[in-house]
Parts: sequence; C-alpha cells; structure tokens
Amino acid sequence: MSTETRFEFKAEAKQILELMIHSVYSHREIFLRELISNASDALDKLRFEALTSDALRPLTGDLHIRLAADPEDRTVSVSDNGIGMNRDEILQYIGTIAKSGTRDFAKALKEAKDKTSAPEFIGQFGVGFYSSFMVADKVTLISRRAGEEKAWKWESDGSGSFTLEEAARDTQGTTVMLHLKPLDKDDEDAEDYAQEYVLREIVRKYSDFVAYPIRMKVERQKWPKDADGKTPPDAKPETVIEDETLNSMKAIWMRPEKDVTEEEYKEFYKHVSHDWNDPLRRIVFRLEGTTSEFRSLLFLPSKPTPEMFLQPKERGIHLYIKRVFIMNDCKELIPEYLRFVRGVVDSEDLSLNISREILQQNRQIQTIKKSVTRKVLDTFKTMRTEDRKKFLEFWKDFGATIKEGLFKAEEDKEKLFEVCLFPSTAAGDDLCTFEEYVERMKPGQDAIYYVTGETRQTMENSPLLEAFRDKGYEVLLLSDPVDEVWVQFVRDYKGKKLVSAGKGDVKLGTDEEKKKAEEAVKEKATAYKSLLEFLKEKLTENVKEVRLSSRLTSSPACLTGDPSDMSPHMEALLKASGKDLPKVKRILELNPSHPLVEKMQAMFDKDKADPRLADAAEIVYGQALIAEGGKLENPASFSRKVADLLLKAL
Ligand code: ADP
Repeated sequence: MSTETRFEFKAEAKQILELMIHSVYSHREIFLRELISNASDALDKLRFEALTSDALRPLTGDLHIRLAADPEDRTVSVSDNGIGMNRDEILQYIGTIAKSGTRDFAKALKEAKDKTSAPEFIGQFGVGFYSSFMVADKVTLISRRAGEEKAWKWESDGSGSFTLEEAARDTQGTTVMLHLKPLDKDDEDAEDYAQEYVLREIVRKYSDFVAYPIRMKVERQKWPKDADGKTPPDAKPETVIEDETLNSMKAIWMRPEKDVTEEEYKEFYKHVSHDWNDPLRRIVFRLEGTTSEFRSLLFLPSKPTPEMFLQPKERGIHLYIKRVFIMNDCKELIPEYLRFVRGVVDSEDLSLNISREILQQNRQIQTIKKSVTRKVLDTFKTMRTEDRKKFLEFWKDFGATIKEGLFKAEEDKEKLFEVCLFPSTAAGDDLCTFEEYVERMKPGQDAIYYVTGETRQTMENSPLLEAFRDKGYEVLLLSDPVDEVWVQFVRDYKGKKLVSAGKGDVKLGTDEEKKKAEEAVKEKATAYKSLLEFLKEKLTENVKEVRLSSRLTSSPACLTGDPSDMSPHMEALLKASGKDLPKVKRILELNPSHPLVEKMQAMFDKDKADPRLADAAEIVYGQALIAEGGKLENPASFSRKVADLLLKAL
C-alpha cells in the first residue's frame, strides 16, 4: 500500500471550511440530505454508465444507500454502491473544489447578516459535501470507482489540509464517515445524529422520494412465534437486527397533486436541482396521447443558480421510463434556451434500453420535448397575466436566456414572440411585448423600431432617436448582448418589419411626410455637396460616408451604419471578448437645419482652407460618438480642441 500524502485545500475551500467549522448554524441536519443527494447522484451515474457498458451492468443489481450510526463512537456514515471516485476524481471533486461558485459562496456567507440562516447558501453553491463539517470534526471518505480495483481514503479535520492514501473496499461506491463533534449540552438545537431515530426523521423530512432504498440496520424486539403464528405465553422477546428501508421511494410525480404537500414538492425540487431556494413555480402535467404518454413535474427556479452561468450546457430535466431512472440532464427533452427548467419526465412507452446516442432521433422524445416546451411557454404567458410585476422579476433573471430561443429555435419563434418582453421608450418601468408595441404604433408607422446599446440611458438619449421622439414612435431599447444576435435573425413580427433605428436611411411618417422629408434633404444635399465631401475626406479613418438626414431634430450630427453593418454595441462586445476585429467605419449624418451645419457650409464657401474647418470636423464627429455612448480614440486632442473653441467663444 502506498503511503499517505498530504494536500492543502485551495484558499476558497479553506474559507468555507473555516466558516462551516466555527459558525453555529441552524438546520445543521441538512448535511445528511447533502450526502444522500450525492449518493443518489452517484447511483444514477452508475446506472447510466451501465447502460452502455457490459462490464458495469452486473454491478447495478442492488443499488442502494446505507446509513450506519454508532452512538458510542459518535460516528455516522453514508455509503452507496454507485459510481465511486478514483484518486484523480477525489482530488478534483473533494480535494480542491476548483468550482468558481465556491468563491461566491464564501463571499455570500460572509456578507450574510443573519449567520444562522447561512445554510441557505450551501445547496445553492454546490458545496454540499463540505456541510459535513458543520457537525463533524473529522470526515473520512473511502471510495472505489466502478470498474477499478483500487480504493482510496480521503481524510480531513477541515483545518486546512487533507490526506489521501490507498485503501480497501469490497464493492464499488463511496462511504463518507463523519466523526461527530461532541454534543453541546447548552445548545438547544443540538441533536445527536448518531441516534437511529434522529436519522430516520431527517431522511423522512428531506429524502423520502429518493429513488433508491436508504437502508439502516435497526435493532428490534421480536416475539418468537410457534407453528400457528402464535406467541407462546412463556416466550421472551429476542433482540434482532434488521434492515429497514427508511424512505418510501414514492415517485412524487405519480401522486395526485392534491395528495402531495408543498413541503414535499419543495424538497423534491431541491433534490433534483441542487438549489437551496424554493422554486418559483411548479408545472405538473401529463400527456396521454396516441403516440406518446408521459408525466412531467417541472419547476422554475426563483433565482439563477451559479451553475446556470458556469455550466450553461447542463440542463436539468431527468428522464425516467416507467418509474425507472434513465438519465439526468437529458438535453433532448428541453430546448437549450429553457435550460434553467428543472424536474422530471417519466415516459410510459419509451424502451428501457434507450441510449444517449439514439435519443436525438427518437420520435417520442421529440414529441415530449415539443409538449414540454409548449407547456413551459404557456406557463410564462399565464404568469404574466396573473402577476405582471412578479413575472418582470423572473424575466429580469431569465429573459436573456429565453431570448436565445429567438434564433436557436425557429420552431418556437411564434410562441416566443408572445412571451418575450423588451424595455422601450414608451413602456417606462414596465416592459412591452411585440403585441403591445404593435397596438401602440402610430398611424403611418409601418415598422417596429429598436436600438441596441450598452445602457438604457445612453440609448434613450441618443440623437438617433430624435425623429422618433418627434413623431411619438416607440423604440425598443435592447441592451442584452443576446439582443444583438436575435435581431439579425428575426426579420418581422406579424408582417411588421423589425428595423434598427440606428442603421440605414430611416424615414418616418406617412408616405407624404416621407416624400417631403426626402425632397428637403435632396435639395440641401446639392447645396452642401462640397462640405460633405470635405468632411468625408477629413474623417476618412472613422467614417465611410457623410450625408444629410431627416433623422435629427435638435442635434447637429449622429453616427449610423448600413443595415448590414455591425452595431457599435456588438463591436464592443466582441472586442471585450478578445476578438480582433477590423475597424467598422460609420456613416456620419448631419442635420441640414442645424445652425452649426449651416455655419460650417458658409465658412467652407468663404474659404475652403480655413483651418478651423478641420477642427470643427473632428469636434462634430467626436460629439456624435460621445452622444451614442461611444469612446473617443484620442480624448485629449478632442478636449483641447473644445477648450480652444470655448476660449474663442467667451
Ligand atoms: P455537488 O454535489 O453540488 O456537486 P459536492 O461538494 O457535494 O457538490 O460534491 C462534489 C462532487 O464530488 C460531486 O459533484 C461528485 O462528483 C463528487 N461526489 C460527492 N459525493 C460523491 C459520492 N458519494 N459518490 C461519487 N462522487 C461523489
């Protein structure tokens, strides 16, 4: 046997362990739920791997979890015969917790005002295993990966380091043994977790629906019986030790909704989602069709979990077939843009030996996905009608993810149009749907207008919107990075074109108004022709065209682009993500009725070589850039020029 090796915990892990050990939390009993949950996951994983491995299949005959307690030694252990971990996996998962969520957890824990409610963070941040140190002063884990010979023993008192050495274990799986802290007689909340009845209660409370038997050896008094099944009058009870299954394993989704308590649903949600928060909403439904029959119990989270951002590809729907667990995070059951939905689908008619590879082509799976999607999207609509304010809160957290559907799921687009909400110039603190926008459209308005940008404030005040404000046209203000993408895919809504207010040659109003505006611009364009050419040449590094437009009412100039040009917001996003992009030259649009533009033309007519003209060109461009929230390449030169100008004017 190899000798013991000592490892240091990573800094964040140390912080967490420190807090676990030294703070007194209520609900310390949840450590058991966390360990059982890990054991159940490990059994799920083995069952899943065994689907495609002849070597592992024989190991799945009696998958279970076992609790053992010893009140004398003050130990409790949780064992499973699941997938287990080899040395590398222990180091990766238990030793050093390299998860980024951990740092957030430590921070949240420190900031928590009420330390006694701190365990609320535990599940949420996925540091479940470490909760053992709330009740134990030493934890020993022995694990053997299914299909491997060697077992490994991990041990730590949580104080900065752990040891790892080779060990022995008869079967695959993991045993976590907690050496309980001494019972604090002054602490009213203190419970003796080494007592059978205490463990039984906790299991019933948190883990009753776990799909594997949770067994424990219990002592029972048994009366001897004779051949007729009667107890002889002089008999004495014998003490026998029997295995008891502590959980009912009842599939919660099979029970009528009225028979399940809110508490049970909440605990089940926490079990499937690894989220400590209560779910926002539950969606229970079944499909009894001719092609496919299934039941589903889904949940919407109340807050995004760190996993949503850290592992966005992981989706949370578990697949069961006739009550038998098949796999977790079944991607084929729900579209990616609904990846925050958690829960289970239990199919009546899929074949039990379905493999991950063939899921994609399976027609029944596709039918399930379709109806799950429809149900979830309909639920969003119901939520919005029931309580708009509450739905807005939900949308704030999950809207950006849902909007991905607008370009990732062509087949759901129509339904998504009914669900999606956007900030707009007319919606105030509320958001608006496409339908609400169209209802508010002005006579003569034939398109849905939007701008994209970093913040609502810069967009709202952008000179690009002047003409829209003037005409009373509503403009969608899109600031999520994902907006930049879907606007390229969605061409129209119910026959109304979706048009960027910051691109192309925007003309507003009735046909007659448009014609008039066009003529006015055309007329002036001839008069301003030489000035426009001069400006184009001066600004050629940043600008590909200079033209007059009817878009502006009070500002002298603004920057726009061709319909196919990348928006400046998109450009900034890509650059921030480290992309090396060629410069996107913009179009400078001038307001022909602005006195500044008129003045420049007059100067130009008088003396083409007037040096003030070149400065003016730079200032006009710089101002237009600042007005849209852009960044000047040479702010020092710009401000020097403005100061000079100011000096002359004063
Ligand atoms: P979480 O369960 O939220 O991922 P934990 O800290 O509880 O966080 O566990 C970290 C990881 O350790 C798990 O994701 C899993 O890979 C591994 N693990 C924990 N317990 C077991 C177990 N009983 N069997 C196999 N792997 C386990």
